[in-house]
Amino acid sequence: MVLRYGHRHVRDYRVTSHCCLVARAFGASTIEVIGEKDQSIIDTVDEINGRWGDGAKVAFHDDWKNRLEHYKKNGFTPVHLTMYGVPIRDIEEELAGKEKLLVIVGSQKVEREVYEKADYNVSITLQPHSEIAALAVFMDRLQKGEELTGTFSGAKIGVEPARKGKIVRRFGG
Ligand code: SAM
Repeated sequence: MVLRYGHRHVRDYRVTSHCCLVARAFGASTIEVIGEKDQSIIDTVDEINGRWGDGAKVAFHDDWKNRLEHYKKNGFTPVHLTMYGVPIRDIEEELAGKEKLLVIVGSQKVEREVYEKADYNVSITLQPHSEIAALAVFMDRLQKGEELTGTFSGAKIGVEPARKGKIVRRFGG
């Protein structure tokens, strides 16, 4: 489960939609965005799910604390990705043993309380970069690359990997 903390309509469209597409492609069960509801992001992910198969859907919510409590009650361990956290390599074995993770990525300024309420603050390098990159590296490390060749049920199209050119397969009627 991936929680994107913070979204400003229009300004953040590209980064938030890319966080959602990474979360889906790397196998998140659900994606939630805290911030101004942006139907175009929901539509983009729905459209990708419709063609490329049934991955995670996106929902918008107002209050990150409620969502955090909701997921904690349902057995999720909250992990906040931040450059100030414990390096991923020092904690990945421990996190891999958890049944369900709530992965929180930030946007603009992240409130101090997020750092306190998360069970783990985890860094992907100790340098500032991007929520999209942090999410991709984290999800890949936790799944040891298993997700890289994953497919989704109900796909209408799919890629036939090719060294050169582009080959797309069409499924069903
Ligand atoms: N300046 C913001 C702050 O004070 O929190 C950070 C902005 S950064 C562009 C947006 C998000 O990318 C962060 O909230 C964090 O989730 C993620 N991020 C950036 N660099 C990271 C790193 N080295 N390790 C883990 N996550 C990182």
